Amino acid sequence: MSWFAWLLLVAGVAIGGVWLSVLLSMWSEKKWIPPELRHGRLVYSEKPFSIQRPVRLSVRVDRAYQVGDHIQLVELKVRDGHRLFMSDVIEMSAQRLVVEKTTGMKVSDFGIFLLQRPAGGRRTVKKVWLLDQRTVLGLALRREEILRGSVLPTHASSIGTCRSCLYQRECNGTFKI
Ligand code: SF4
Repeated sequence: MSWFAWLLLVAGVAIGGVWLSVLLSMWSEKKWIPPELRHGRLVYSEKPFSIQRPVRLSVRVDRAYQVGDHIQLVELKVRDGHRLFMSDVIEMSAQRLVVEKTTGMKVSDFGIFLLQRPAGGRRTVKKVWLLDQRTVLGLALRREEILRGSVLPTHASSIGTCRSCLYQRECNGTFKI
């Protein structure tokens, strides 16, 4: 075989490999995509948004799809156990508020979470109702007041929340956990 034929063969194999990986990733995306997103178009990926009023809030949208006339928020969580926490819901509710205020578009009342273990494997899809704007603004204002020192923080309502909290050591001086 001539060197030119070898070159064509190598190029063909390389292009074939690229196409195969693209097709495999499209196929694996299709496997988890919930019905709500089948006709959606990805509009934001890892995109930061922020507002200054009525409170300063900065968020990063993992993924957002345009479905009809509204935006659907999606977030991938890689962790042990297919569990969601209230902090996940608050985080996505804040994204919803900031995206609505900055884009002027309606964002779906529920969020979609894709839960995956660190070792990979099957993804689980969970849909959760998001908090309304008033509740999110209330939480953000309270956070600002706590950071300013004008309001004292209170203990988490469930001790279970503390068990996986990264601030246990700092917190132990204030609250006896
Ligand atoms: S350890 Fe402290 S900061 Fe963490 S959840 Fe419990 S009360 Fe909240």
